[in-house]
Amino acid sequence: MTNVPLLAVENVSGGYGDIAVLHDVSFTVQTGSIVAIVGANGAGKTTLLSTIAGLTPPRRGRICLRGVDLSGRSANKRPSLGMTLVPEGGRLFPFMTVLENLELGGYAAAARQTVAQRLDEVMTIFPVLSERRTQLAGRLSGGERQMCAIARALMSRPTLLLLDEPSVGLSPLMTERVLDTVAMLVRKEGLTVVIVEQRVAEVLAIADEGHILDQGRIAGSGTAARLLSDPNVQETYMGL
Ligand code: ATP
Repeated sequence: MTNVPLLAVENVSGGYGDIAVLHDVSFTVQTGSIVAIVGANGAGKTTLLSTIAGLTPPRRGRICLRGVDLSGRSANKRPSLGMTLVPEGGRLFPFMTVLENLELGGYAAAARQTVAQRLDEVMTIFPVLSERRTQLAGRLSGGERQMCAIARALMSRPTLLLLDEPSVGLSPLMTERVLDTVAMLVRKEGLTVVIVEQRVAEVLAIADEGHILDQGRIAGSGTAARLLSDPNVQETYMGL
């Protein structure tokens, strides 16, 4: 039997209206792995995640989840298929409490009966959110906000988490904590993660594989270890 990847991005081209951003992008993601998408500002990383999540329809190519073509499955149907996006900056509702933000994450029909149980589990994973449950999300620190956004995504019990630049606005120390949490979730919750990051060295340290996106095309791929030791990657993306 062939090993069907959890996610397959197949020859995807697309963008916004007449603006072409992605050009023939292909890669696969195996269950239980962390795949990093790295690249410069404007390379198309966010557009790629948003295309996988169904927010930006591809002009060509297709996205498959466990071998099933997702064309025609709208973005709001994808969380119930097990795919959840954490957008850049988290996009929490700042005037709602931490608890209310988390409850919204459990809104998907399949998860509705088990919201209370899932809340307990998520609070156990993120004790800091349990302490701050009645606090307005807008008053959280940058790191806590990112944790809350990831926790909200976990409420729908995703199998595939799409994380868009979780390090934005965070200190190096807080970035490391957030990335360590992502790695822990993969080990303990059996999650699979596609993560977009500009902090290349840091994200490759937790990733299994990486793809370099350059002007909307995959310019290089490999195991995280190989990319980390590649002098061209070090010079171009890590400032070494
Ligand atoms: P960054 O790291 O700065 O977030 P990125 O690699 O995520 O960059 P994208 O945000 O995907 O890159 O942007 C890729 C290109 O698409 C850029 O040229 C950007 O100006 C353009 N773009 C992004 N969003 C839109 C939009 N809604 N409409 C039109 N063009 C857009």
